[in-house]
Amino acid sequence: TLSDRLADTFKNLRGKGRLSDADIDATAREIRIALLEADVALPVVKEFVAAVKDRARGEEVSGALNPAQQIIKIVNEELVEILGGETRRLRYAKTGPTVIMLAGLQGAGKTTLAAKLALWLKEQGKQPLLVACDLQRPNAVKQLQVNGERAGVPVFAPEPGNGVGDPVGVARASIEEATRRLHDVVIVDTAGRLGVDAELMQQAADIRDAVRPDEVLFVVDAMIGQDAVGTAQAFLDGVGFDGVVLTKLDGDARGGAALSIRSVTGRPVMFASNGEKLTDFDVFHPDRMAGRILDMGDVMTLIEQAEKTFDQEQALKAARKLSGDGEFTLEDFLEQMQQVRKLGSMSKILGMLPGMGQMREQLENFDDREIDRIQAIIYSMTPAERVNPKMIDGSRRARIAKGCGRTVTDVNQLVDRFFEARKMMQQMARGGGMPGMPGMPG
Ligand code: GDP
Ligand code: MG
Repeated sequence: TLSDRLADTFKNLRGKGRLSDADIDATAREIRIALLEADVALPVVKEFVAAVKDRARGEEVSGALNPAQQIIKIVNEELVEILGGETRRLRYAKTGPTVIMLAGLQGAGKTTLAAKLALWLKEQGKQPLLVACDLQRPNAVKQLQVNGERAGVPVFAPEPGNGVGDPVGVARASIEEATRRLHDVVIVDTAGRLGVDAELMQQAADIRDAVRPDEVLFVVDAMIGQDAVGTAQAFLDGVGFDGVVLTKLDGDARGGAALSIRSVTGRPVMFASNGEKLTDFDVFHPDRMAGRILDMGDVMTLIEQAEKTFDQEQALKAARKLSGDGEFTLEDFLEQMQQVRKLGSMSKILGMLPGMGQMREQLENFDDREIDRIQAIIYSMTPAERVNPKMIDGSRRARIAKGCGRTVTDVNQLVDRFFEARKMMQQMARGGGMPGMPGMPG
């Protein structure tokens, strides 16, 4: 994956203050490969990589992240930005029914999507009407009716009287019907062919003129990869569209089409379809798609965690400075508890030492959940409190208890236990006995 390859690229870079031009070039190569592998169109890749290089040049290597992580963070942020930043929402008509028209190649997933969208809108309290304007394929109307029934949404289909064989006539009649029956959203399903086709494109444009949609959505199969750009451009020229729906994201396509279409047409991806069930549908999340294009799984989560931990460590260091070095703190206490967890087997050895029988007993009673409880309480404290527990007064104890879901008594016991441990430590330091085993519970 990209993150592995970048980690390789930066094997020797730790400790440098700034990325060198050579580092950045090597990085750019890896990003380029990753994007091409995700089926992003070449011109889009070039433009994108140039933007990332530009930004990487100005950036200082931060303390929290290694250079590979840092570059990935930049790439991810730029990707999210280009993919639209925030999810673009549907625009509803101010008066009368909101008309949403679907366009795209045959097999893209329009008819399926029409029903998914209808169900989704219905769940938000809307009263959609589905309209069957694909009179091209013999079974298309039936398919929409079946899906409409599943979604519990009525379907307006050609019948004698509302334009049999004439998709534009059906479309026009459907708006009258929707107005009469007080539907607030109309979803118009249209025909598509296997390739871009002038006649069908004209039909879609005619339907568009007849219903004047508030939103034209271009539906595209994520699996068509590099062909996505050409197809999107043809539909943009032939019909025009306001947003994109990416389908079949349950397949193994990496989703580069999203980036290409967005860059080339300037239209945002609004919805994502990821399966054949009506509920396999969601608004589009640029951040998730960015992760998918970069094939990074949980890398972003790890990066965020690294940054958070780093911030906490910084806060702790600062707090420690304030209270004077060398003092035994709750942080140290916790660390020792965690070591004790690892030392489970130590109990036997301890038991063999004279005078250590009592400690052995304590160790054996010391189960993992106990450590988890202690950890939760300590994590609910501020860094300053962990370093200087004397400042934890009654109201803070109540707060801390609330923060970790324990009782105030639990917090009190922990704090008492800590002070005992600290006393024991100091005694041991004077007596020179058993260093390294202080934080034992009392
Ligand atoms: P249309 O020709 O654009 O109307 O496409 P359809 O809605 O008829 O879908 C074509 C095929 O793709 C059907 O077999 C659908 O069940 C399937 N399909 C649609 N959306 C998805 C999706 O998100 N994931 C998967 N796996 N299949 C889908
Ligand atoms: Mg269809």
